[in-house]
Amino acid sequence: MSSSQNDRERLSTNLIVENQFEIAANLIGLEPSMQVLLKSPFRTVSVEVPVRMDDGRLEVFRGYRVQHNGARGPCKGGVRYHPEADEEEVLGLATTMTWKTALLDIPFGGAKGGVQVRARDLSQRELEAITRQFTRRIALFLGPYRDIPAPDMNTNPQVMAWMLDEYSAKYGYTPAAVTGKPIALGGSLGREEATGRGAMIIMQSYGRDAGIPIKGGRVVIQGFGNVGAHLALFLHEQGAKVVAVSDVNGGLHNENGLDVPSLFEHTYIRRKPVAEFDGGDAMSDADDEIWKVSCDWLVPAALGSVITKEKNANTIDCKVVVEAANSPTTPIADKILEARGIQVLPDFLVNAGGVVVSYFEWTQNLQQEPWTLEQVNRRLQAKMTKAYEIVRELAESKGVPWRTSALAIALRRVADAEALRGGH
Ligand code: GLU
Repeated sequence: MSSSQNDRERLSTNLIVENQFEIAANLIGLEPSMQVLLKSPFRTVSVEVPVRMDDGRLEVFRGYRVQHNGARGPCKGGVRYHPEADEEEVLGLATTMTWKTALLDIPFGGAKGGVQVRARDLSQRELEAITRQFTRRIALFLGPYRDIPAPDMNTNPQVMAWMLDEYSAKYGYTPAAVTGKPIALGGSLGREEATGRGAMIIMQSYGRDAGIPIKGGRVVIQGFGNVGAHLALFLHEQGAKVVAVSDVNGGLHNENGLDVPSLFEHTYIRRKPVAEFDGGDAMSDADDEIWKVSCDWLVPAALGSVITKEKNANTIDCKVVVEAANSPTTPIADKILEARGIQVLPDFLVNAGGVVVSYFEWTQNLQQEPWTLEQVNRRLQAKMTKAYEIVRELAESKGVPWRTSALAIALRRVADAEALRGGH
């Protein structure tokens, strides 16, 4: 992280999201009062999360749940555990969820939760205690028709199981109150890998239209968590060459393509750092070096604000940036990439597969009828492809970037729902 320390351009997700909002709102001529309504969150819950740590100390963490908009359905979005997940960051992420659910045309609004904690330092007992305490303190605002949490950065199906248990202790067994659950508790087949699969579907569609085939294509992935690791696996299966990947501890580079299935096993299943995998050259300061590797597809799949003017927007050497992370590109960097003719596939299209299968999970829970993996994947494919097509059509007909097109579609849908519901 050496050079990014003095990277003045690093912006909070919320500022990035606000800037993008204005461009799209102007494109569709959204009236000023509706702009104010759609910019501000419906409800922000801020709680203290006191937890007895393993060493006996009492620590008090800060937790947030921001419900940005619920005009199109119950608020929906993940919960992340990260020191940077403060109120402003969580608001930006909640806002993105509103656009994501609208663009994919699933009957939800947008929300996000966060607890400001260094998840890596926690024992399993501490993780459980934080989750239970946080859930108890926001439970009043949750529910299958109110707000439905799911996994995000540093949370997983086990964390969702604890959230469900806390919620159900208070309100009775309610599987549809949380998604991304373990299968044994009503989770959906295909949910864990859904974000990676959705991103692959978008890349396949774009690759076909733009003449950049996945098969034989060179891919670089920054971030090897749930999204990056599954996406790498799918792309490898499709014949792509994953030439470099990184995680928080370092990276790995192999011009002939990494052995992705073994790396997946090493990193995702056995939880070992990417750089300790024997099958490529280790990159010491991966946060700098990963951006220098030339490729067709560059996939940021970790934190926000990693592609900036100061750091890499002028030097990145790829044909397409695939935003698997939320808000990885700052607005200035976005402009630079556009001027350089590098296509940017926007986050709330690329990484929407997770919340789409969360919707399928919620549906299955409400109907008490599980779907097969084949059903889940077929419907995911249909949802992602439909959203891809409408974004491409509007971008081409209006001659605007894909992000602006996608946001304009989402804004129109949310604004129409708000106007029809009225009450303001
Ligand atoms: N956290 C994921 C996202 O940012 C999934 C949200 C969900 O499934 O509700 O899209």
